[in-house]
Amino acid sequence: MTNNQDLLRFIEGIPKAELHIHLDSAPASLLLRIAKRNDVILPFNSLEEFNTWFVLTDLDDFMRKFKTLTSVLLTERDYFDVVCEFGRICHAQNILRCEAMFTFAAAHEGRVELDVLLSGLAEGRRAVKENFNVDIYFLADIDRTINPDRSLKYIRDIIPRKDEVGILGVGFDCEETGYPIGPHKKAFELARDHGLKLSAHAGEEFSAGPEAVWEVIDNIQPDRIDHGNQAIRDDKLLRHLASSQLPLTLCPMSNVAIQVYSKVEDHPIIALQERGLLVTINSDDNTMLGSRNDLVFNYKCVAEAFDLGFEDIIGLTRNGFAASYASTEDLRRYNMSLDAWLLVNTG
Ligand SMILES: [Zn+2]
Repeated sequence: MTNNQDLLRFIEGIPKAELHIHLDSAPASLLLRIAKRNDVILPFNSLEEFNTWFVLTDLDDFMRKFKTLTSVLLTERDYFDVVCEFGRICHAQNILRCEAMFTFAAAHEGRVELDVLLSGLAEGRRAVKENFNVDIYFLADIDRTINPDRSLKYIRDIIPRKDEVGILGVGFDCEETGYPIGPHKKAFELARDHGLKLSAHAGEEFSAGPEAVWEVIDNIQPDRIDHGNQAIRDDKLLRHLASSQLPLTLCPMSNVAIQVYSKVEDHPIIALQERGLLVTINSDDNTMLGSRNDLVFNYKCVAEAFDLGFEDIIGLTRNGFAASYASTEDLRRYNMSLDAWLLVNTG
């Protein structure tokens, strides 16, 4: 970690947005409490044991453990508690806006009715606004391994409740290789027709490559790419992403956790930015790297690895708001908050 304590405090305090974080992976401390309440046995009994158990080898290993974690969530109250915990975590890091993903098929279906989950999210979101003045919105991710008929039905089921719950977009995630987006085009088109924004996880692991990003662009004309770090290997893609300013929601420490990069210094975030891309920093998952992986941690690690300064951090936080799905009015409000904070904190 950098020795520049002023910069670290600056990172902690500056108003931020988080655009790529999975609500399904609630913090282990909360899941332990919920497991106790619901009489569910987890393979760990304390945060220390969780940290030992949750050492990851790759994305598939993460997915297996992730499903064990989500197995404790059973009731509307559980989901309400998860959203409230997200709100508390956002507030502690001065995150003004959080767009959080949930993947019903991968993490909840078969255990919980969709309406139970959605009601918990809706109530939680209202409580977070009231208690912390944090804006939480949701992105309904399609599990890319499911049958396209199921993904279409899922979007049909989401649409009637999207405004009440605060769902702004649809994403696409889970095991990347071998599950193309093309067959799910109808689901994305239906979502777009109903005003939902579109994104997809693509180009995260080396094996997926930059072609995974092209595949998403060609099939659904997304509003954002989730990850997209492998774009660095394709000049034509870099030129396209720079000219279109299609944002990337990068998650540097999550990539390190699943060993896409052995250390954050190898991450292409700054190289992508230098090529003119609109890059944002995000955490991806609270559970990655034990309990340390939050947004501030990602900013700090990137700042240290690339020797960033105050202006760099301001630029990255502005990118976060600019790449969000915020209304013009909300965006103005966030930028005013950021400017007011900078006025006080930069003299
Ligand atoms: Zn993700």
